[in-house]
Amino acid sequence: MEPANKHGSECGAVVITGGGSGIGRTIVERFAQAGEAVLIFDHNEAAAEQVTADLKAAGHRAVAFVGSVSNEDDVSAAFDLAEAYFDGVKTLINNAGISGNCPTIELSLGEWQRNIDVNLTGVFLCSREAGRRLIKSGKPGGIINMASMYGVVAAPNRISYCSTKSGVVMMTKTLALEWASVGIRVNGIAPGYVHTDLTHELIKTGRLDAEALNRRTPLGRFGTPEEVADLAWFLASDQSRYITGQVVGVDGGWSANGYL
Ligand code: NAD
Repeated sequence: MEPANKHGSECGAVVITGGGSGIGRTIVERFAQAGEAVLIFDHNEAAAEQVTADLKAAGHRAVAFVGSVSNEDDVSAAFDLAEAYFDGVKTLINNAGISGNCPTIELSLGEWQRNIDVNLTGVFLCSREAGRRLIKSGKPGGIINMASMYGVVAAPNRISYCSTKSGVVMMTKTLALEWASVGIRVNGIAPGYVHTDLTHELIKTGRLDAEALNRRTPLGRFGTPEEVADLAWFLASDQSRYITGQVVGVDGGWSANGYL
């Protein structure tokens, strides 16, 4: 297979937020193993340092930045680091996100705000920074936003998660229109239930019924982080060069299913 993520430029890093664990870590590994320089932007220092150390030990190009996507100074500093190490950014993957699972009448303003800060403001700040730097450099690039099927279809007790992820869907389309003429493609990914530590914990504590979810999913199972990473790879590559402003589901058919 041809190398991913060409965008007409061989230099520049793939910046992956929330790249220290879960789906983000698998995406980081996918790109690094394909020869891309990766910057892991995560607020969990141990996780970010561990994945970076593992990749460097295997001979890949990687650097960690520890900070929060919802902090404007952190975001600017992360992209400064990409410039210092890898001559800038060529692809941003806005993967960092937090879940929100609570009946609306019990949801505190603080918890609502936390979801807005990470899931929505974080995507705005990182996209704005990547856009500014790509436009200044004159190089083409790409942005991939991790939405969710719950940004496309609704579920009860998830008002903060569904609202922020649907905001990510609309940000994807807005930025795609705004930046198409300067060669920046913006697309989104809408995963269904994916096997990660997060979902395993929810299953273990009885907050997710894996069997019921499998029955509801036309393909009959959870997705894997690798299946999400495959889509990220495709959307970052020249193979998707005529695709922008799209949010692609990787949900085993869940969002198409209006039946059971
Ligand atoms: P995860 O909790 O395993 O990983 C999220 C990572 O983001 C962690 O490393 C965490 O430290 C980091 N992070 C959180 N807040 C941050 C912040 N403010 N600044 C920087 N880093 C931060 O989650 P996951 O399951 O791998 O999910 C990754 C993305 O995929 C999220 O956006 C999530 O909403 C989305 N998603 C996940 C699923 C699923 O089933 N796992 C389904 C649909 C969408």
